[in-house]
Amino acid sequence: CDRESRRTVVMYPAPGAGHLIPTVEFGRLLVSHGLAVIVVQRGLPAGNATAPASSLYGNGDASASPFLSFHYIPEPPLPHGVPEGDHVAKVFELTRASNPELRDFLRVTSPAALLLDFFCYSAADVAAEIGIPAYFFFQSCTASLAVLLHLPVIHGQNDVSMRDLGGELVHVPGVTPIPAHDLPAAFLDRSSLSYKHFLALSEQLCKSHGVIVNSCRSLEPRATDAVASGLCTPPGRTTPPLFCVGPLVQSAEVAEKQGEECLAWLDTQPKASVLFLCFGSMGRFSAEQIKEMAAGLEMSGQRFLWVVRSPPGGNEQPGEPELDVLLPNGFLDRTKDRGLVVTSWAPQREVLAHETVGGFVTHCGWNSVLEAVMAGVPMLGWPLYAEQRMNKVFLVEGMQLGVAMEPGPDGFVTAKEIEGKVTWLMSSDGGRELRERTLVAMREAREALSAGGDSTAALLQLVQRWII
Ligand code: UDP
Repeated sequence: CDRESRRTVVMYPAPGAGHLIPTVEFGRLLVSHGLAVIVVQRGLPAGNATAPASSLYGNGDASASPFLSFHYIPEPPLPHGVPEGDHVAKVFELTRASNPELRDFLRVTSPAALLLDFFCYSAADVAAEIGIPAYFFFQSCTASLAVLLHLPVIHGQNDVSMRDLGGELVHVPGVTPIPAHDLPAAFLDRSSLSYKHFLALSEQLCKSHGVIVNSCRSLEPRATDAVASGLCTPPGRTTPPLFCVGPLVQSAEVAEKQGEECLAWLDTQPKASVLFLCFGSMGRFSAEQIKEMAAGLEMSGQRFLWVVRSPPGGNEQPGEPELDVLLPNGFLDRTKDRGLVVTSWAPQREVLAHETVGGFVTHCGWNSVLEAVMAGVPMLGWPLYAEQRMNKVFLVEGMQLGVAMEPGPDGFVTAKEIEGKVTWLMSSDGGRELRERTLVAMREAREALSAGGDSTAALLQLVQRWII
């Protein structure tokens, strides 16, 4: 059928590969069920320099469908009063400043629904103003959603910032208790602008027509049931309908276009023998920590594929890493028979799905966790930013699909710790049991996505709402 006869859904992700990839994957699913999808992106099509995936999607050809297109709105000037260094508040404020552009676009497009990234919650006001149903396409796990819905309750229980609660456990229905210091950094200071945005977001979630989550019930049964039954909703607010449609991971044909070198090297390795180390689209380590990781990997004697980036460069965008300077003297030579170091980016989804990969050191970004689950690869969590410390708690103690790297009090992880955990994961009975559990989770998640599965049923319900 032609473009005009399809109902359109507009998706509005925050910038960055971790937000764009699941958005496009969900968009493709909607297209396959007869809808047209327009992905609105703030900023230039070139996307994030460290994330070729966004330029790959951003130029439109990855969608390879006339029914999935991109619309760009210009980056607005940063509003006054955003504290230097509060990057989370900056994303929220830039989205709010883009509302007039979005309003013009929505007036012309008049879509059946607007699907918002949580960073774009302020666009819900625009949707309400012109009478378009607003939904959230929530890109972290259902347990994170539970915490966010419950945030006003947690806020009311304390009169100090959560930073001052240290390791005290925070309780949310359906969720593994979380040490306060493992909550997202933006939740820690109750006087910060980003914290205020999260409280406002929590309220908007309850006003929305529904929250679509990239997860499935089998992965997070307790959190799913608690959110759906309203246990996490603050008194006096409405519980939004919950649609778990995942796990959605990057499609093979998109991932394949990147980094053949890694895949060719993996082809030469024994089955389930390689440890993959990769830290999301933004993860960076200090030069000292990179050297220590190299030492730990070398001591472990395990095979590895390691994505190395330059250390953070202050205000400058760091360039390509110089491996000769960053890695210990002779490291590449000594490990050349069992290790491959690639710079900046690897086709992660394809790497994880490769049969020679047997373990994954991850920063616990939710897309990375889902890609590992869908490939049945057990995880070693090394959280860095955003909600990753909280995801680590869910991964290790809730889902029990990973173990955690333990940093010292200064946040530094020693070579000895790395050697110990890597060896445990790759060649102990405990590591093998973890792998078995991950394979069970993989089968259940695939089941959810199959024709009669829970996630497919949730998708069909949404399509029914929008297609007529
Ligand atoms: N990714 C990749 N290659 C890399 C780094 C990241 O393909 O070298 C992809 C990864 O597969 C995932 C996304 O980028 O789909 C990162 O999302 P995630 O939620 O894990 O982390 P974020 O980047 O949002 O922190």
